[in-house]
Amino acid sequence: MAATVVRAGQVCSASAEGRLDIRIEDGRIAAVAPHLPAEAGDHVIDASGMLVLPGLIDCHVHFRDPGSPERESFPTGTAAAASNGVTTVLEMPTSDVPVTTAERIEKRGRHLTGRSFVDFGLYAGAGRGSLDDVAGCASAGAVAFKTFTHSPTAARAAAFEGLWAVNQPDLLCTLQAVAATGRVHALHCEDDSLLEYFASKDDASAPFGVRHRNSRPPVVEQSAVAAVTALALETRSRIHLVHVSTNHAVDIACAARDIGVDLSIETCGHYLTLDDRTLDRFGSHAKCNPPLRPADTREALVRAVRDGRIDIIASDHCSYTPDEIAKHSDDPQHALPGLPGIEFLLPTLMHLVTAGGIPMRQAVACLTSAPARRFGLKGKGDIAVGYDADLVVVAPDAPAPFSLSADYHASGSKNAVYLQGVDLRGRAMTTLVRGVPVVAGGELVGSPDHGKWIRAE
Ligand SMILES: [Zn+2]
Repeated sequence: MAATVVRAGQVCSASAEGRLDIRIEDGRIAAVAPHLPAEAGDHVIDASGMLVLPGLIDCHVHFRDPGSPERESFPTGTAAAASNGVTTVLEMPTSDVPVTTAERIEKRGRHLTGRSFVDFGLYAGAGRGSLDDVAGCASAGAVAFKTFTHSPTAARAAAFEGLWAVNQPDLLCTLQAVAATGRVHALHCEDDSLLEYFASKDDASAPFGVRHRNSRPPVVEQSAVAAVTALALETRSRIHLVHVSTNHAVDIACAARDIGVDLSIETCGHYLTLDDRTLDRFGSHAKCNPPLRPADTREALVRAVRDGRIDIIASDHCSYTPDEIAKHSDDPQHALPGLPGIEFLLPTLMHLVTAGGIPMRQAVACLTSAPARRFGLKGKGDIAVGYDADLVVVAPDAPAPFSLSADYHASGSKNAVYLQGVDLRGRAMTTLVRGVPVVAGGELVGSPDHGKWIRAE
C-alpha cells in the first residue's frame, strides 16, 4: 500500500500540536514532523490552512441496527459519522432485541461487519434479569456495559429488557456483576421513583416544554448520580455517567471522584450549545432525557468542560421518523426522547473553542484521547507514531448550515429541526479511517466494508 502524507496542516492532538506533516504507512502513523519529504508514489493530502485532528470518537450512539432501519441504520449512521470526522462509534445496546447475551453480541457484530464506514465497538446491557450473561458478554468483546436507573415506558419495554435496574439492591448487584469484568459501566442516571412522582404532578394544560422539564427536573438526575456513585464506591466500579445535563450532577460526581470513585463524566453537544428555550420552541422535536436545561446551567456545563471536570463529549445520536415525532407532539409523556446529533458534533467542538473559550487541545481531547483511554480503544484517539491513522482534516470556518432540505447522511438529521437558526461551523474535508479516505473533498467516498469491529479483550 502506498504511503500517504498529510501536509502542512495545523495539527492538534494529545501528543502533537503545531504545523506538522503526518506520514501514514499501512494504515498507521509512521512519522509526525514539521517537514516530511514525500517519496515517489506517495499520496499527498494538502492540509494547509486546515486543522488536522485525530478522528473523533463518539462513545454514545443509537443507530439501532438491526432493529428500526426506518429510523437509522449502521450504513446511514456511520456515513454521517465519517462525514463529520467521526472515525469510531460505540453503539448502545438498545435495539428491538436488546444486546444482553454473548450470542447477541456475536450476532450483532457479524451483522454490522460490512455495514460500517467507520470502526465500531458494541456495548452490552446489564440489569435486572440479565446479570447471568454479563461475564459472557465481556468475553464476547463488549467494549463496555450500559444500565438505565429507570424503568422503560410500556411501549419500549421489549427494547429495554435486561437493561435497567431501578431499586438499590438491583443496582448494587448490577454494578457488582459489571465490576467483576473490569469493563467500564455506563449509567443513565434518572431516579425512577422521582420520575413517577413528577409524572403524577403533570399539568396537562401547560405547554409542552414546561411539562417536559417539570417531569424531569435536575433533582431527578442528581439524586440518581448520588445513588450510583455511592454504590460504585462500594463495588469499585469503573463508571461512566452518560449525558450529564446539570452542573450539580457534575459537582456530586466530582465529590465521589475525590473520594476514590473511578468515574468519567460525559455530556452531549446539545447540553453545551442549547438550552430550554429550544425545548420551548420546538417541543417534541427537542425532547431528550434529561431535558435541555436553562441557559445558566448550560454555561456552567461549558465551564465544567473548561476546568476538566467533564472529560468526555458524545452525541447520544438517536433518530425517529417524522411521523413518530409528530404523533405525540402535544404529549410530552409519550413523545419519544432523543436527538439526532452525530452530524453536529464537529461544529459543537468548534463552537466550544470559538464561543466557549475552551483551548482547542482540551476540546479535542474530550472527543478523542479521553474516550479512547477510558474505553480501552488501543491505537485510537491520538496523532502519534504507531497509532491508527484515523484523522480528520477540518475546514474550521466553513459553515455547516442547517436546513431541512440539506442532504444529510443520517436519517435522523433530516428531523433535526431543533438546530434551526444555530450557527454551525467546521466541516470535515477529509476523513481517514486507518489511512483509507472515507471522506475526500468533503464528500463520502468510502465503503461500508471498511469499518472494523473493535472487540475488547
Ligand atoms: Zn443514549
